[in-house]
Amino acid sequence: MTATAPREEQLWSRCAGCASLLYRKRLRRNLDVCPECGEHARLGAPERLRQLVDPGSLSLLPDRLPEADPLDFVDVLPYPHRLTGARASTGLAEGVVCATATIGGHPVALAVMDFRFLGGSLGCAVGELITRAAERALDDRTPLVLITASGGARMQEGALSLMQMATVSQAIAALREAGLLTVSVLTDPTYGGVAASFATNTDLVLAESGARMGFAGPRVIRQITGRALPEGFQTADFLLRHGQVDMVVQRRSLRGRLMALLAATRAGRPARSPVPRQEPASHRERLADDGAVPARPTDPAVEGDAGTPAVRDAWDTVRMARHPGRPTTLDYLDSVFDGFVELHGDRLGADCPAIVGGVARLAGRHVMVIGHQKGHTTAELVARNFGMASPSGHRKALRLMRLAARLGLPVVTLVDTPGADPGVSAEEQGQAAAIAENILTLTVLPTPVLAVITGEGGSGGALALAVADRVLMLENAVYSVISPEGCAAILWPDRSAAPQAARALRLTAPDLRRLGVVDEVVSEPSSAAHDDPAETAHRLRAALLANLLPLLDVPPAMLVRLRRQRFRRFGANRVGARAGLR
Ligand SMILES: [Zn+2]
Repeated sequence: MTATAPREEQLWSRCAGCASLLYRKRLRRNLDVCPECGEHARLGAPERLRQLVDPGSLSLLPDRLPEADPLDFVDVLPYPHRLTGARASTGLAEGVVCATATIGGHPVALAVMDFRFLGGSLGCAVGELITRAAERALDDRTPLVLITASGGARMQEGALSLMQMATVSQAIAALREAGLLTVSVLTDPTYGGVAASFATNTDLVLAESGARMGFAGPRVIRQITGRALPEGFQTADFLLRHGQVDMVVQRRSLRGRLMALLAATRAGRPARSPVPRQEPASHRERLADDGAVPARPTDPAVEGDAGTPAVRDAWDTVRMARHPGRPTTLDYLDSVFDGFVELHGDRLGADCPAIVGGVARLAGRHVMVIGHQKGHTTAELVARNFGMASPSGHRKALRLMRLAARLGLPVVTLVDTPGADPGVSAEEQGQAAAIAENILTLTVLPTPVLAVITGEGGSGGALALAVADRVLMLENAVYSVISPEGCAAILWPDRSAAPQAARALRLTAPDLRRLGVVDEVVSEPSSAAHDDPAETAHRLRAALLANLLPLLDVPPAMLVRLRRQRFRRFGANRVGARAGLR
């Protein structure tokens, strides 16, 4: 950030918007916004920080974490090689830069994502660093400002990167509870797991001019729907029109807007804590923070799944998990539970058929059951949108979770979805924010939550029902940050590499048990659940009872605390300390 003599090739740069040849210095003086057409070029994290914070106030938080390749992931390149390349080309340790600083004199903690670093993807280290920035904000009692730029969760860290959505969300929930402001600034592009968690579950969501944000990317939506997308789809103005952001802000106004918001919310905040609040005197680096990772992980010893199941190839398991004969949520409601009374509707205008929920009894105890519903025939699958929930489905689930907490009912969720609905109207209705709100709410829900991955646990759509005190998984179910086909298309890049991707993603129940994402694997009879649904139901019921009953005695505040610890421990430190999988 010091002035150095620019190399020849850096003197000029071509605008991506209007193709004008621009003098680099002039462009930078204009905050990398084209003076001809107003195109906002993407900014790296260091430059973004320089533009936003008061000169001299910046204090970077530690960014070094133990090296992690929790899955030993290899596509056409081993993951560590990709990491090394990203570090060399950006000069950053990871895809986010965190700091404390002041903006117009207001102290804040910031986390700024950098799209140049593996597409700004959310892996364990990124999640851990943002969580620490949030915890720093909590300690200092300052607002948290997140600047997002990301393609989504980091495929190379599999379901562990999916867990980061919950980890960061619960850190934001803690700030909410403490009455501290959280602000996200969406910059181009913000997609997938980042959009469906901390980019949208903050108090205020600002979109930088020209930013695009959505749950599913335009290419995926076009592929799936086979339709042309509406003009300006997922752009900042589109988001504003559909009620998904508070405002669209030009880059030159961003600092001023943040100052105004920080000032307003600070003025209005009553002294809630017994200790009179005061200016944090200084923001000297507290490197000691680095060691402040709580909860030594309890190493998930490989559980004696009586008669360790024969090792099945991951791709075969994927096909098993998708088998049309596999019992659905409604089948389990019939066979495992009694007296199911279905409750419908999101109270905002729709009733999503891909999610069913309602009150039921489990061995005489009242519970709230919420699950994805697929079907066995093509007609059923179509009617249920293949178990892909719309925003209204997520909002129905949210309504039932909150209702359960009010009534003191435990929540049991049954997860079986290829992913959340990636359609145009789902985006218009705020799919990312709907998922994000569920994840955040589950991290603080004051009632026991027990989740079971029964079939496909597809990405953010699965996690929207799976932030739980205990997570069980049927033996032939899968749980993954992205479908093997999607992963293959991006990394290999050829969809026919899906079987290799399935293996690399570590999406089977035994793998996830070893990684600690899943607490218990529920074995299936003989070859698979669909061969003997009655026996599967019997085993599932026994596992549900064994896991639910102990939770009923835990006071709600303690439950929430333990749930938070459960998701907090997926940070990079833990993963870094672990040996890779066999
Ligand atoms: Zn231009």
